[in-house]
This record gives sequence, structure tokens and C-alpha cells, in this order.
Amino acid sequence: MISKSLIPLEPASPAHICPLDQACSYLEAAAKELNLNQGLLEILSHPRKVVTVSIPVKLDDGEIQVLAGHRVQHCDVLGPYKGGIRYHQAVTLREVSALAMLMTWKCALLGIPYGGGKGGIPIDPKRYSIGELERISRRYISELIKDIGPSVDIPAPDMGTSAREMAWMMDTYSVNVGHAVPGVVTGKPLSIGGSLGREMATGRGVMIIVREALADQGKSLAGVRVAIQGFGNVGGAAAELLYEAGAKIIAVSTGAGGIFSEVGLDIPALKIYAAENHKSIVGFPQSVAISNADLLALPCDVLIPAALENQIAEENVNRVQAQIVAEAANGPLTLEASLSLEGRGVIVLPDILANAGGVVVSYLEWVQGLSYVFWDEERVNREMEHLMVQAYHRVIQQSKKRQISLRLAAYTLGVGRVAQALTDRGLYP
Ligand code: NAD
Repeated sequence: MISKSLIPLEPASPAHICPLDQACSYLEAAAKELNLNQGLLEILSHPRKVVTVSIPVKLDDGEIQVLAGHRVQHCDVLGPYKGGIRYHQAVTLREVSALAMLMTWKCALLGIPYGGGKGGIPIDPKRYSIGELERISRRYISELIKDIGPSVDIPAPDMGTSAREMAWMMDTYSVNVGHAVPGVVTGKPLSIGGSLGREMATGRGVMIIVREALADQGKSLAGVRVAIQGFGNVGGAAAELLYEAGAKIIAVSTGAGGIFSEVGLDIPALKIYAAENHKSIVGFPQSVAISNADLLALPCDVLIPAALENQIAEENVNRVQAQIVAEAANGPLTLEASLSLEGRGVIVLPDILANAGGVVVSYLEWVQGLSYVFWDEERVNREMEHLMVQAYHRVIQQSKKRQISLRLAAYTLGVGRVAQALTDRGLYP
């Protein structure tokens, strides 16, 4: 196991799979396959910078609370750090470090000139007012002001944050440096330099990768039976685009439970229903309620876990009946579950490929911002599709050439590209 002794980590929770251990085991497997030397592996296994700041915030009742805010910058050998900021009660430095590392390989795999970063504040955003969230976001970014910037580290939304938080962060950074700097964050509102197509980007990328995988089997999306866990930004967009392409979405779910329809759900009508019912989907006409556990076990062609990590693990992997599993969330399958599915001939489309559409359009937003030229949505989608399809075929070729799983193929491509850049740049001093 790689040494992580330089990172001041919290103790691992015995009840949960440590996300950083999981990330490191993927890195180790890729390094072994590539025959990387131990020194390179040591460099790549450590983040370059780990920052934890305290965020004092005045609550609406006048009380002061002090929160922790993390930012982990894993590797900038290919370009500025890039990665989301998560507001969720379960955020830990272990998780942020793992997700930062994942971003390094994802950007390298997609061929975009970024390194991996990630940030997070361990709060449940639903327990704070909008005013409190604004003060938290502004103070967090002002504490990190020397560590971020359009050519240094470019945050984006993640779970619990959205375009609204990015606008506050862009404004805070800009006010502090004295001029507008749209390129400091991506996933911004359109009014301040956001990109068309960003909102649907991750779901669109999932649809594209599933479509390519089916095409390799001589099939199209038309009539394919799909079950999707999660109906948020990623799962909702994937459902909509797959539905438009003719797929039959037989089940979707949220944290409050799921719904099933043998003939397929009317996704545009479901979106309206969810918007009118505070995101709740249970009770949607012509559907029956289904648990999240049963959704994962449905007989279907494609299963898309688009909610949380570790949803398919040793205890439930044998119930999965899908022929293709597309990891839309980050880490929804444990390593053991992934190996077990692959052993049964199931195609597992790994997260660093399947959910990369968001970071690709973030990159396109950054390019538009730096060039002061803004594209129409059709061009954004076209450029994104090109990068996603190219990456998909690189992964398939690598998998065939080396006789390895798609996940290991994706990791070897990402890790290999960074290792090559590190070797070419050399070690300073
Ligand atoms: P989101 O908060 O918009 O949506 C999450 C969805 O999951 C919601 O529908 C929620 O109700 C549901 N959910 C929560 N707990 C659940 C449970 N126990 N069982 C079933 N469903 C549950 O988040 P998102 O932006 O869609 O992100 C989802 C995943 O995709 C995360 O792992 C995230 O890191 C990853 N991801 C997101 C993006 C992006 O652009 N948003 C990009 C890459 C990866």
C-alpha cells in the first residue's frame, strides 16, 4: 500500500470503505500495469498541496460558528488544478484527497490540460439559510485567495453547490483582486461567462458513453431498458437525454425512494412532476414505488448509478442483472463489485470516463472565458462529444491491447500521461 503519511488525515471510519485507500489501489494497479518506477508512484500518490482553512461565519441569529474548509491540489504537471467544491455533511479530507486524485486521471484521460483538485466543507447545506451559505462561500474563497486563480486552481460545483455558489466565489475573488476574473471558476451563471450546455454536460457525457458502448455491440439506444439511481443534476440529465434518444427509462430514484414502469417512464412529465413536488418522484402517475435496493437489481440492459459512492458492493453485486453498468456518480461501485461484474461479462464503464462530460464542458467554458469568444450550445455539445468519443475509443483500444478491464485501461491512460509529463519535465531542483 502506498504511504499517505504526509497527509494529515482523519482516522479512517471502520464502518466505511476509505475512498483514499480505494483511489490509491486504482493508482497502484495502473502503476503495476505500466511498470512505473516506485519514485514516480510515490510522487503521484501524494497531493502537492493540502489546505484546510477555518471559516468563521455569523449565523442569522447572531451566533458565530467556525467551519472547516478543505482544498486539495493533487497534481498540476499538465496545467492548473481543476475540481469541484462539495458541501455535504460527510465530507472528509480523505474523501477530498481521493476525489482530487481522481480528477488528475480524468483530465489526463480526456486530454484536457488540467491537474486534479477538489474542495469541500463538511456541512449539510439544507440546514443553512441562503444568506448564511453566501457568507460561508465568500469567506471560504477569501481564505483560499492565494491558492486559486484562473491559471492556478479553478473550482467548479459539486454535490451541494451550484452556479449560485460559483457566482459568489467569482465575485469574492474578483473584488479582492480588483477586477472581474470570470476564469477563476467554472459552472457559473451565463450572465457572468458561464457556458451554454454546462448544466446538462455530465448527463450528456453519460449518454454518449453508453451510446458508444451499445454501438460496439451493434445496438442503438432505441428501446434499450435503462434504470437510473439518482435524479439530480447528473441522473436527471442522463434520463432526459436517453429518453430523447429513444431509450426506455424503466426506473429512477432519489434518496426518498424510486419508481418503476414496465413500459417506460415519461421523463419530461416526471421532471415537471418532481419540480412541482419538491424533487419528490414517488407517486408519479402510471408508476409503482420501488426501493433503491430493488432498482439496482432490476432486469435491464443499462444500469446507471448516478447518486452516491459504494452503492454496489460485495453484499448486493450478485443481484445486479444489467448488461452494462455506467458509473455516472464518482465511485458508485466498490473495486470488488466491479471485478465481480466484469468476471460475469458485464461491461463496466468507469467513472473517470463516463462522468467526464462535466469537466470537459468546464474546460470549454474556461477556454471561452480566456478568449472572450462565446459559442452557441450546438458548438459546445459538438466539441464535448468529440473529446468524449475519442477518449472512449482510446480506452477500448487500450483494454484490447493490454487485455485489461475498461477501468484499468482508463487509469493506465490517465496515469501514464501524467507520469510521462512528469518524466519529461523532470524533478526540480
Ligand atoms: P445531485 O445532488 O444533483 O443529485 C444527487 C441525486 O441522488 C438526487 O436525486 C438525490 O435525491 C439522489 N440520492 C441521494 N441519496 C440517495 C440514495 N441513498 N439513493 C438513491 N438516490 C440518492 O448531485 P449530482 O451533481 O447529480 O451528483 C451525483 C454524483 O455524480 C456524485 O457522485 C457526483 O460527485 C458525481 N458527479 C457529478 C458531476 C456534476 O457535474 N454534477 C460531475 C461528475 C461527477
